[in-house]
Amino acid sequence: MNNRRLNPVTGMIWVFLAFLMGCEQSDSGLPNDPGKTPYQTKNVVIIVIDGPRFSETWGDPSKQYIPNLGKKLARQGVQYNWFYNNGPTYTTSGHTALTTGRYQIMQNDGTEFPHYPSLFQVWLSQTREDPNQAIIITGKEKLNVLADCSHHQWRGKFNPICVADNRPDAETLKIARSLLEQHHPQLLLIQFKGPDQYGHANDWTSYLNSIIETDRYVNDIWEFLQNDPHYQNTTTLFVTNDHGRHLDNVRDGFVNHGDLCEGCLHINLFAAGPDFKAGVTINTYRELTDLAPTVARLMGFTMPDARGEFLSELFK
Ligand SMILES: [Zn+2]
Ligand SMILES: [Zn+2]
Repeated sequence: MNNRRLNPVTGMIWVFLAFLMGCEQSDSGLPNDPGKTPYQTKNVVIIVIDGPRFSETWGDPSKQYIPNLGKKLARQGVQYNWFYNNGPTYTTSGHTALTTGRYQIMQNDGTEFPHYPSLFQVWLSQTREDPNQAIIITGKEKLNVLADCSHHQWRGKFNPICVADNRPDAETLKIARSLLEQHHPQLLLIQFKGPDQYGHANDWTSYLNSIIETDRYVNDIWEFLQNDPHYQNTTTLFVTNDHGRHLDNVRDGFVNHGDLCEGCLHINLFAAGPDFKAGVTINTYRELTDLAPTVARLMGFTMPDARGEFLSELFK
């Protein structure tokens, strides 16, 4: 069987080819071992607060309606002064920009899927984790489209668990808490709808109260994550919006949204976690499509279809 032994030259060629193949694989952006990262983050929780304006949240110097985020959590994370939805400023398009890293003009009634896979689908495909490890909970039933996409290679595949119903935010919080405790998902998106709902109802007082309420809910979830043995020190939180609302001098002001006015485009981003700076305000101009590639890098997977950029300034 001597003739089956590789001679040294052939051996070297094979080693070299194996090296080249290894290079090509990592250049293609597909990690050989999803989940292996230099980061401490093992779980990501994204909270989307639907449709408050920057002027009543982080843009208000007193932070009177977001005392938890604006005063307490601010010391533990990073806040962006110039974060934008540069696509259609409607609910379904805004959430899609966040989850897929692409802007897309969409039907806003839940009859159209995103064209590209979300970070949930891509993560499940690359890790082969149980679907209950990637969960979407939303207080708007139409957002169940976030769990799938129309791309022929992805439709109906690697779908996360999606709990989408028209319900008050207090119930959404309860469901989120119970799913966190029950399944310990590694990727979770929670959507609160209050500010948008009361804005459209032209109810200024309830609009402000729901900003206060959702600020409390964010704190509740952050406290839970900090105290739960599974999540503490390994979990990153993002808090953002799908869109803002018109400035007071645009059309009907805070009641509606959907155009390119500063009030609609300018949104919030707060981020906290074991890999991020703390107590820092960022003045770099960033946008909603940057979240998907950033979450992907943190969790050790890649989003080949996303168009946003990695938010490198977040990191220590
Ligand atoms: Zn919305
Ligand atoms: Zn507007």
